[in-house]
Amino acid sequence: MSETYGSIDTQLVHAGEPRPRIAGAVEMPIFQSATFEYAGEGSYHDVRYLRINNTPSQLVLHAKIAALEGAAAALVTASGMAAISTTLLAVLSAGDHLLVQDSLYGGTHELVTGELTKLGITHDFIDADRPESWPALLRPNTRAIYVEAMTNPLLRVADLEGVTQFARSHRLLSIIDNTFATPVNFRPLTVGFDLVVHSASKYLNGHADIVAGAVAGDAATIERIRHKANHLGGCLDPHAAFLLKRGLKTLALRVRYQNDSTLRIARFLEEHAAVARVHYAGLASHPRHERARRLFAGCGGVLSFELRGNAARAQEFEQRVRIPTVAPSLGGVQTLLTRPAATSHAGLPPAERQRLGISDGLLRLSVGIEATEDLIEDLRRALD
Ligand code: PLP
Repeated sequence: MSETYGSIDTQLVHAGEPRPRIAGAVEMPIFQSATFEYAGEGSYHDVRYLRINNTPSQLVLHAKIAALEGAAAALVTASGMAAISTTLLAVLSAGDHLLVQDSLYGGTHELVTGELTKLGITHDFIDADRPESWPALLRPNTRAIYVEAMTNPLLRVADLEGVTQFARSHRLLSIIDNTFATPVNFRPLTVGFDLVVHSASKYLNGHADIVAGAVAGDAATIERIRHKANHLGGCLDPHAAFLLKRGLKTLALRVRYQNDSTLRIARFLEEHAAVARVHYAGLASHPRHERARRLFAGCGGVLSFELRGNAARAQEFEQRVRIPTVAPSLGGVQTLLTRPAATSHAGLPPAERQRLGISDGLLRLSVGIEATEDLIEDLRRALD
């Protein structure tokens, strides 16, 4: 099934696609079947059934996503959280300890601090930009270290190479959530990460019409994760798999456009008198701009910014914009705007939000594929 292609643009279109084509169909049909005729499979994990994650709609995505991330194998799941929870439950057991970045996506934060703790898996938070502070947190039972390519909503870029060196020298499994960067901008396995997870609901699918997830890495670990997924049951359904595969074909076009558009919007906002601060790794003012330039082909389609004045100004601004929809999530063709203190980070106590640098007036913009000039004009009007 799989051939190798030199560039990600070609991999997105062709990697993993069935050859010869099924009945000559240029686009692989949807296999809307839960179960498949018995063909002598000897084990539970080989029986061809949707929840066992081995049907044609799923296998094609496994091959394609593995190719994109430069991994030996991959697995798709029912959501990003299904990929993250299944991965962590597959590689950790009761009594194990995990190091996690201190500014994780809210769902992952609650999974680690709530569910994993209840199961006897403990954690410590790390400032992923300060490698010198990590050794003190190591314990004899520390098994893994988990970070994100860029943090939400402040777009910080941790010392990702430091994380993989630390993991290697202490025999930890290194795991990264690459949702914000995508393999178009960054392939974490090339800097030594062991496993990469995605919310495919975001850029990989790119149209804000499904939820899906993925994990990629070495074949043995992915097989372990697949067995765990087979038991936990968070499998991707064939229609969502079809949409994800269709969305993936344009990933590079979308992400490169979004990189460019977001940088232009970030520069515009930085110059505007009503804006106090812009957070975007593509700006020279970003504290880790040089690192981002070295690691990433582009800095992605999400930025955040603070308006001068109080939170009420930010709320007014949300009501004034015409093109962006005020909605959670990111990574789609539509521009979305959120105020993290009222949405994704509303669950945190105000003091904790303050400590993380998330002010009540902070706004996060996920830039879509609309014309940059139209977006800038709309933002200018709302700011003025
Ligand atoms: N990881 C990141 C960085 C996210 O932003 C999200 C969702 O917002 C997730 C994981 C969870 O993904 P899903 O909503 O597909 O479960």
